[in-house]
Amino acid sequence: MTSSTEPRAHGDPDAAVCPECGDTGWVHSTADDGATTVVRCPCYRATQIARLLEGAGIPPRYHHARLDNFAVTSHMDRSLDEARVVAQNFVEAFPQVPYGLLFVGPAGVGKTHLAAGILRELIEQRGVVGRFADYRDLLRAIQDSYNPVSQTSELQILRPVLDAEVLLLDELGTRRPSNWVLDTVTHILNDRYSTQKLTLITTNFPDEAESWSGDQTITDRVGAYARSRLYEMFRIVTMNGDDFRRQKSASHPSDRYSLGS
Ligand SMILES: [Zn+2]
Repeated sequence: MTSSTEPRAHGDPDAAVCPECGDTGWVHSTADDGATTVVRCPCYRATQIARLLEGAGIPPRYHHARLDNFAVTSHMDRSLDEARVVAQNFVEAFPQVPYGLLFVGPAGVGKTHLAAGILRELIEQRGVVGRFADYRDLLRAIQDSYNPVSQTSELQILRPVLDAEVLLLDELGTRRPSNWVLDTVTHILNDRYSTQKLTLITTNFPDEAESWSGDQTITDRVGAYARSRLYEMFRIVTMNGDDFRRQKSASHPSDRYSLGS
């Protein structure tokens, strides 16, 4: 096989042309029997992954989020470590996973960190087309597209969300539920269900009201139909935060945001 060089991204005007392939993305490879074939240059995969990561739209706040830097200490609730193991197993089993993951728990326990970590690992390791969508931002963008002067259509906003091999829908239920909101959420879930695409969801709304959810349930926020879809399509990963919050308030302020939300 041809020797490889450090992967580097195409399109960087300051970068030298790839010495292996001259930026064609293809190199000659000679097999043991002397036959020559043309194969992808190592720089090509690096370029593809960089493009996929950029296209996934993971917010800068979660660029650092990986499964191996989701720190769980013995002071924290055991459910957080269990959630990390579920996330790790999900990545290892992918694409042989029959369900999405629904991370449920109060703000600040690291739900988005874990979900964004899964998304990043699947893009980097498996080359999946992934998409991060903030629930509230997504609904706002769809609604803005109805404005006659808008340059975008509803389909343009929804297409990458529906087409992504793996979608992360963050903070489900944070927008006040109206009939339009319930219909839109149901449409997204049904479409992804019918096309058998995997979805990761985080939410601050549990199945039974808690003080940390403002006494609201997931049914209150997305409706009974979407709730039943969720419980049918997803493995529920509950993350309890009581111990974590106690520890957080006792720790140095600079440690407070180490897990994200
Ligand atoms: Zn190359």
